[in-house]
Amino acid sequence: MAEILFIGLGNMGGPMANNLVGAGHKVHVFDLSEAAVEKLVNAGAYSVPDLRSFDGSDVDAIITMLPSGKHVRSVYTSEQGLPDSFKAGVLNIDCSTIDVDSAREVGKTLEARGQLFVDAPVSGGTAAAQAGTLTFMVGGTAIAYEKAKVFLDVMGKNIFHAGATGNGQVAKICNNMLLGIHMIGTCEAFNLAEKLGLDAQTFFDISSTASGQNWSMTSYCPAPGPVESAPSNREYKPGFAAAMMLKDLRLAQEAAHAAKASTPLGAQAEALYALMEAAKKDDMDFSGIMKLIQGQ
Ligand code: NAD
Repeated sequence: MAEILFIGLGNMGGPMANNLVGAGHKVHVFDLSEAAVEKLVNAGAYSVPDLRSFDGSDVDAIITMLPSGKHVRSVYTSEQGLPDSFKAGVLNIDCSTIDVDSAREVGKTLEARGQLFVDAPVSGGTAAAQAGTLTFMVGGTAIAYEKAKVFLDVMGKNIFHAGATGNGQVAKICNNMLLGIHMIGTCEAFNLAEKLGLDAQTFFDISSTASGQNWSMTSYCPAPGPVESAPSNREYKPGFAAAMMLKDLRLAQEAAHAAKASTPLGAQAEALYALMEAAKKDDMDFSGIMKLIQGQ
Protein backbone atom coordinates (compact mmCIF):
# COMPACT_ATOMS: atom_id res chain seq x y z
CA MET A 1 0.00 0.00 0.00
CA ALA A 2 1.18 3.52 -0.76
CA GLU A 3 1.65 6.67 1.27
CA ILE A 4 -0.30 9.64 -0.08
CA LEU A 5 -0.56 13.35 0.74
CA PHE A 6 -4.04 14.62 -0.21
CA ILE A 7 -4.68 18.38 -0.31
CA GLY A 8 -8.16 19.93 -0.74
CA LEU A 9 -10.88 18.01 1.08
CA GLY A 10 -13.99 19.81 -0.18
CA ASN A 11 -17.13 18.42 -1.78
CA MET A 12 -15.07 16.39 -4.23
CA GLY A 13 -11.70 15.91 -2.52
CA GLY A 14 -13.23 14.71 0.76
CA PRO A 15 -14.92 11.62 -0.68
CA MET A 16 -12.00 10.96 -3.06
CA ALA A 17 -9.54 10.90 -0.15
CA ASN A 18 -11.99 8.75 1.79
CA ASN A 19 -11.95 6.14 -0.99
CA LEU A 20 -8.14 6.04 -0.90
CA VAL A 21 -8.27 5.44 2.86
CA GLY A 22 -10.88 2.73 2.26
CA ALA A 23 -8.54 1.04 -0.24
CA GLY A 24 -5.93 0.68 2.53
CA HIS A 25 -3.53 3.49 1.60
CA LYS A 26 -1.89 5.61 4.30
CA VAL A 27 -3.35 9.05 3.55
CA HIS A 28 -2.05 12.31 5.05
CA VAL A 29 -4.59 15.12 4.62
CA PHE A 30 -4.33 18.91 4.49
CA ASP A 31 -7.03 21.57 4.02
CA LEU A 32 -7.52 25.14 5.21
CA SER A 33 -10.77 23.94 6.78
CA GLU A 34 -10.23 22.14 10.08
CA ALA A 35 -13.69 20.57 9.88
CA ALA A 36 -12.83 18.99 6.53
CA VAL A 37 -9.60 17.55 7.95
CA GLU A 38 -11.35 16.23 11.05
CA LYS A 39 -13.89 14.33 8.94
CA LEU A 40 -11.09 12.49 7.13
CA VAL A 41 -9.14 11.83 10.31
CA ASN A 42 -12.26 10.19 11.74
CA ALA A 43 -12.28 7.99 8.64
CA GLY A 44 -8.67 6.86 9.23
CA ALA A 45 -6.50 9.54 7.57
CA TYR A 46 -3.60 11.43 9.21
CA SER A 47 -3.80 15.19 9.75
CA VAL A 48 -1.08 17.49 8.41
CA PRO A 49 -1.35 20.59 10.61
CA ASP A 50 1.33 22.58 8.76
CA LEU A 51 2.18 21.86 5.13
CA ARG A 52 5.60 23.56 5.15
CA SER A 53 6.93 21.45 8.03
CA PHE A 54 5.48 18.16 6.76
CA ASP A 55 8.08 15.41 6.27
CA GLY A 56 7.26 14.03 2.83
CA SER A 57 10.21 11.66 2.53
CA ASP A 58 8.02 8.50 2.60
CA VAL A 59 5.28 9.88 0.36
CA ASP A 60 4.69 8.13 -2.99
CA ALA A 61 2.02 10.48 -4.37
CA ILE A 62 0.65 13.97 -3.78
CA ILE A 63 -2.94 14.51 -4.89
CA THR A 64 -4.68 17.91 -5.03
CA MET A 65 -8.36 18.82 -5.50
CA LEU A 66 -8.51 22.61 -5.28
CA PRO A 67 -10.83 25.37 -6.54
CA SER A 68 -8.72 27.07 -9.23
CA GLY A 69 -5.35 27.59 -10.92
CA LYS A 70 -4.30 30.21 -8.39
CA HIS A 71 -4.75 27.71 -5.51
CA VAL A 72 -2.95 24.96 -7.42
CA ARG A 73 0.01 27.24 -8.24
CA SER A 74 0.21 28.39 -4.62
CA VAL A 75 0.32 24.81 -3.31
CA TYR A 76 2.82 23.45 -5.87
CA THR A 77 5.06 26.38 -6.67
CA SER A 78 4.91 29.07 -3.96
CA GLU A 79 7.04 29.37 -0.85
CA GLN A 80 3.98 28.79 1.35
CA GLY A 81 3.22 25.56 -0.49
CA LEU A 82 4.67 22.06 -0.50
CA PRO A 83 7.99 21.51 1.31
CA ASP A 84 11.17 20.23 -0.40
CA SER A 85 11.28 16.98 1.55
CA PHE A 86 9.84 14.68 -1.14
CA LYS A 87 11.91 11.94 -2.72
CA ALA A 88 13.08 12.22 -6.33
CA GLY A 89 10.51 10.97 -8.80
CA VAL A 90 7.55 11.55 -6.45
CA LEU A 91 4.25 11.57 -8.32
CA ASN A 92 2.01 14.67 -8.29
CA ILE A 93 -1.62 14.35 -9.43
CA ASP A 94 -3.71 17.50 -9.72
CA CYS A 95 -7.40 16.60 -10.09
CA SER A 96 -8.69 20.21 -9.92
CA THR A 97 -10.29 21.87 -12.94
CA ILE A 98 -7.93 24.74 -13.80
CA ASP A 99 -6.64 26.73 -16.77
CA VAL A 100 -4.47 24.89 -19.25
CA ASP A 101 -1.53 27.31 -18.86
CA SER A 102 -1.33 26.83 -15.08
CA ALA A 103 -1.40 23.04 -15.47
CA ARG A 104 1.46 23.17 -18.01
CA GLU A 105 3.46 25.66 -15.92
CA VAL A 106 3.13 23.57 -12.72
CA GLY A 107 4.03 20.41 -14.65
CA LYS A 108 7.16 22.05 -16.06
CA THR A 109 8.27 23.31 -12.63
CA LEU A 110 7.83 19.92 -10.98
CA GLU A 111 9.53 18.04 -13.81
CA ALA A 112 12.48 20.42 -13.49
CA ARG A 113 12.66 19.32 -9.84
CA GLY A 114 12.88 15.68 -10.98
CA GLN A 115 9.26 14.89 -10.03
CA LEU A 116 6.39 13.42 -12.02
CA PHE A 117 3.18 15.37 -12.70
CA VAL A 118 -0.18 14.69 -14.29
CA ASP A 119 -3.19 16.96 -14.60
CA ALA A 120 -6.22 14.74 -14.06
CA PRO A 121 -9.47 16.73 -13.93
CA VAL A 122 -12.66 14.80 -13.42
CA SER A 123 -16.09 14.49 -14.89
CA GLY A 124 -18.89 13.39 -12.56
CA GLY A 125 -20.07 15.23 -9.47
CA THR A 126 -20.05 14.51 -5.77
CA ALA A 127 -22.13 11.32 -6.13
CA ALA A 128 -19.48 9.86 -8.48
CA ALA A 129 -16.72 11.04 -6.12
CA GLN A 130 -18.40 9.16 -3.29
CA ALA A 131 -19.08 6.06 -5.34
CA GLY A 132 -15.54 6.02 -6.79
CA THR A 133 -16.93 6.18 -10.33
CA LEU A 134 -15.40 9.45 -11.60
CA THR A 135 -14.07 9.84 -15.13
CA PHE A 136 -10.47 11.11 -15.20
CA MET A 137 -8.96 12.92 -18.19
CA VAL A 138 -5.21 12.72 -17.75
CA GLY A 139 -2.39 14.77 -19.27
CA GLY A 140 1.25 13.84 -18.73
CA THR A 141 3.99 11.44 -19.78
CA ALA A 142 3.20 7.74 -20.29
CA ILE A 143 5.27 6.86 -17.21
CA ALA A 144 3.47 9.38 -15.00
CA TYR A 145 0.11 8.24 -16.37
CA GLU A 146 0.78 4.55 -15.62
CA LYS A 147 1.84 5.38 -12.06
CA ALA A 148 -1.14 7.71 -11.51
CA LYS A 149 -3.62 5.14 -12.85
CA VAL A 150 -3.08 2.93 -9.79
CA PHE A 151 -4.58 5.69 -7.60
CA LEU A 152 -7.11 7.00 -10.13
CA ASP A 153 -8.56 3.48 -10.47
CA VAL A 154 -9.53 3.64 -6.78
CA MET A 155 -11.39 6.94 -7.26
CA GLY A 156 -12.80 6.46 -10.74
CA LYS A 157 -14.26 4.11 -13.31
CA ASN A 158 -13.08 5.53 -16.65
CA ILE A 159 -9.49 6.75 -16.91
CA PHE A 160 -8.30 8.30 -20.19
CA HIS A 161 -4.78 9.33 -21.18
CA ALA A 162 -5.36 12.51 -23.22
CA GLY A 163 -1.69 13.12 -24.11
CA ALA A 164 0.91 15.59 -22.87
CA THR A 165 0.67 17.73 -19.72
CA GLY A 166 -2.33 20.08 -19.82
CA ASN A 167 -4.31 17.87 -22.22
CA GLY A 168 -6.48 16.58 -19.37
CA GLN A 169 -7.66 20.17 -18.83
CA VAL A 170 -8.11 20.64 -22.59
CA ALA A 171 -10.38 17.58 -22.75
CA LYS A 172 -12.34 18.75 -19.73
CA ILE A 173 -13.04 22.33 -20.90
CA CYS A 174 -13.84 21.28 -24.48
CA ASN A 175 -16.26 18.63 -23.22
CA ASN A 176 -17.95 21.03 -20.82
CA MET A 177 -18.17 23.80 -23.41
CA LEU A 178 -20.02 21.34 -25.66
CA LEU A 179 -22.22 20.27 -22.73
CA GLY A 180 -23.15 23.91 -21.95
CA ILE A 181 -23.99 24.56 -25.61
CA HIS A 182 -26.20 21.49 -26.08
CA MET A 183 -27.93 22.08 -22.75
CA ILE A 184 -28.92 25.59 -23.85
CA GLY A 185 -30.02 24.33 -27.28
CA THR A 186 -32.08 21.60 -25.65
CA CYS A 187 -33.79 24.16 -23.37
CA GLU A 188 -34.61 26.35 -26.37
CA ALA A 189 -36.12 23.42 -28.27
CA PHE A 190 -38.32 22.28 -25.35
CA ASN A 191 -39.44 25.86 -24.65
CA LEU A 192 -40.33 26.51 -28.28
CA ALA A 193 -42.15 23.16 -28.58
CA GLU A 194 -44.26 24.02 -25.56
CA LYS A 195 -45.05 27.52 -26.81
CA LEU A 196 -46.21 25.99 -30.09
CA GLY A 197 -48.49 23.51 -28.32
CA LEU A 198 -46.30 20.39 -28.22
CA ASP A 199 -45.92 18.92 -24.71
CA ALA A 200 -42.50 18.00 -23.29
CA GLN A 201 -43.07 14.22 -23.18
CA THR A 202 -44.27 13.98 -26.79
CA PHE A 203 -41.41 16.15 -28.04
CA PHE A 204 -38.97 14.03 -25.99
CA ASP A 205 -40.36 10.76 -27.44
CA ILE A 206 -39.87 12.08 -30.97
CA SER A 207 -36.61 14.03 -30.69
CA SER A 208 -34.81 11.49 -28.49
CA THR A 209 -35.07 9.01 -31.35
CA ALA A 210 -34.50 11.62 -34.09
CA SER A 211 -31.48 13.70 -35.04
CA GLY A 212 -31.89 16.24 -32.20
CA GLN A 213 -30.99 13.52 -29.68
CA ASN A 214 -28.20 14.44 -27.27
CA TRP A 215 -27.04 13.71 -23.69
CA SER A 216 -28.66 16.83 -22.18
CA MET A 217 -31.98 15.58 -23.52
CA THR A 218 -31.83 11.85 -22.87
CA SER A 219 -29.90 11.68 -19.58
CA TYR A 220 -30.52 15.08 -18.00
CA CYS A 221 -33.64 16.52 -19.63
CA PRO A 222 -34.06 20.21 -18.59
CA ALA A 223 -37.84 20.01 -19.04
CA PRO A 224 -39.55 18.34 -16.05
CA GLY A 225 -41.12 14.98 -16.76
CA PRO A 226 -39.36 12.81 -19.35
CA VAL A 227 -36.19 11.80 -17.41
CA GLU A 228 -37.13 10.93 -13.84
CA SER A 229 -33.62 11.27 -12.34
CA ALA A 230 -32.99 14.73 -13.89
CA PRO A 231 -32.63 17.81 -11.61
CA SER A 232 -35.56 19.42 -13.48
CA ASN A 233 -37.79 17.06 -11.48
CA ARG A 234 -36.47 18.35 -8.15
CA GLU A 235 -36.67 22.07 -8.81
CA TYR A 236 -33.21 22.10 -10.43
CA LYS A 237 -31.36 21.20 -7.24
CA PRO A 238 -27.76 20.35 -8.29
CA GLY A 239 -26.31 18.05 -9.59
CA PHE A 240 -23.78 20.14 -11.38
CA ALA A 241 -24.26 23.77 -10.35
CA ALA A 242 -24.57 26.54 -12.94
CA ALA A 243 -21.67 28.29 -11.13
CA MET A 244 -19.41 25.31 -11.93
CA MET A 245 -20.53 25.32 -15.56
CA LEU A 246 -19.77 29.05 -15.77
CA LYS A 247 -16.30 28.45 -14.32
CA ASP A 248 -15.58 25.84 -17.01
CA LEU A 249 -17.02 28.03 -19.80
CA ARG A 250 -14.79 30.91 -18.67
CA LEU A 251 -11.76 28.61 -18.71
CA ALA A 252 -12.73 27.50 -22.22
CA GLN A 253 -13.02 31.12 -23.41
CA GLU A 254 -9.65 32.05 -21.88
CA ALA A 255 -8.05 29.12 -23.65
CA ALA A 256 -9.87 29.91 -26.91
CA HIS A 257 -8.61 33.50 -26.87
CA ALA A 258 -5.05 32.36 -26.18
CA ALA A 259 -5.22 29.79 -28.99
CA LYS A 260 -7.06 32.21 -31.36
CA ALA A 261 -9.77 29.55 -31.79
CA SER A 262 -13.20 30.69 -32.90
CA THR A 263 -15.86 29.56 -30.39
CA PRO A 264 -18.89 31.82 -30.95
CA LEU A 265 -21.36 29.39 -29.36
CA GLY A 266 -19.02 28.82 -26.41
CA ALA A 267 -18.93 32.61 -25.93
CA GLN A 268 -22.74 32.77 -26.03
CA ALA A 269 -22.99 29.93 -23.54
CA GLU A 270 -20.64 31.78 -21.18
CA ALA A 271 -22.71 34.97 -21.53
CA LEU A 272 -25.96 33.12 -20.75
CA TYR A 273 -24.56 31.35 -17.69
CA ALA A 274 -23.15 34.72 -16.55
CA LEU A 275 -26.75 35.98 -16.59
CA MET A 276 -27.64 33.17 -14.19
CA GLU A 277 -24.82 34.35 -11.96
CA ALA A 278 -26.05 37.96 -12.13
CA ALA A 279 -29.57 36.79 -11.27
CA LYS A 280 -28.11 34.87 -8.29
CA LYS A 281 -29.46 31.65 -9.75
CA ASP A 282 -26.07 30.04 -10.24
CA ASP A 283 -26.49 27.75 -7.24
CA MET A 284 -29.19 25.95 -9.25
CA ASP A 285 -28.30 22.98 -11.39
CA PHE A 286 -26.90 24.03 -14.77
CA SER A 287 -30.04 22.65 -16.46
CA GLY A 288 -31.90 25.40 -14.56
CA ILE A 289 -30.92 27.67 -17.44
CA MET A 290 -34.32 26.47 -18.69
CA LYS A 291 -35.84 29.06 -16.32
CA LEU A 292 -33.81 31.84 -17.91
CA ILE A 293 -34.88 30.75 -21.40
CA GLN A 294 -38.51 30.69 -20.19
CA GLY A 295 -38.05 34.25 -18.86
CA GLN A 296 -38.65 33.18 -15.25
P1 NAD B 1 -14.79 22.89 -2.71
O1 NAD B 1 -14.81 24.37 -2.65
O2 NAD B 1 -15.88 22.11 -2.06
O3 NAD B 1 -13.39 22.35 -2.09
C1 NAD B 1 -12.15 22.96 -2.25
C2 NAD B 1 -11.35 22.71 -0.97
O4 NAD B 1 -10.04 23.22 -1.15
C3 NAD B 1 -11.94 23.42 0.26
O5 NAD B 1 -12.12 22.47 1.30
C4 NAD B 1 -10.89 24.47 0.62
O6 NAD B 1 -10.79 24.72 2.00
C5 NAD B 1 -9.64 23.81 0.07
N1 NAD B 1 -8.53 24.74 -0.20
C6 NAD B 1 -8.55 25.90 -0.88
N2 NAD B 1 -7.31 26.43 -0.94
C7 NAD B 1 -6.49 25.59 -0.27
C8 NAD B 1 -5.11 25.58 0.03
N3 NAD B 1 -4.29 26.57 -0.38
N4 NAD B 1 -4.61 24.55 0.73
C9 NAD B 1 -5.42 23.56 1.16
N5 NAD B 1 -6.74 23.50 0.91
C10 NAD B 1 -7.27 24.50 0.21
O7 NAD B 1 -14.66 22.51 -4.26
P2 NAD B 1 -15.05 21.12 -4.96
O8 NAD B 1 -16.48 21.14 -5.36
O9 NAD B 1 -14.53 19.99 -4.14
O10 NAD B 1 -14.23 21.27 -6.32
C11 NAD B 1 -12.83 21.05 -6.37
C12 NAD B 1 -12.39 21.04 -7.82
O11 NAD B 1 -13.10 20.01 -8.52
C13 NAD B 1 -12.67 22.35 -8.57
O12 NAD B 1 -11.57 22.63 -9.39
C14 NAD B 1 -13.93 22.03 -9.37
O13 NAD B 1 -14.03 22.81 -10.55
C15 NAD B 1 -13.71 20.56 -9.67
N6 NAD B 1 -14.96 19.81 -9.95
C16 NAD B 1 -16.03 19.92 -9.09
C17 NAD B 1 -17.18 19.19 -9.34
C18 NAD B 1 -18.38 19.27 -8.42
O14 NAD B 1 -19.45 18.77 -8.78
N7 NAD B 1 -18.25 19.85 -7.22
C19 NAD B 1 -17.25 18.35 -10.47
C20 NAD B 1 -16.12 18.23 -11.30
C21 NAD B 1 -14.98 18.97 -11.02
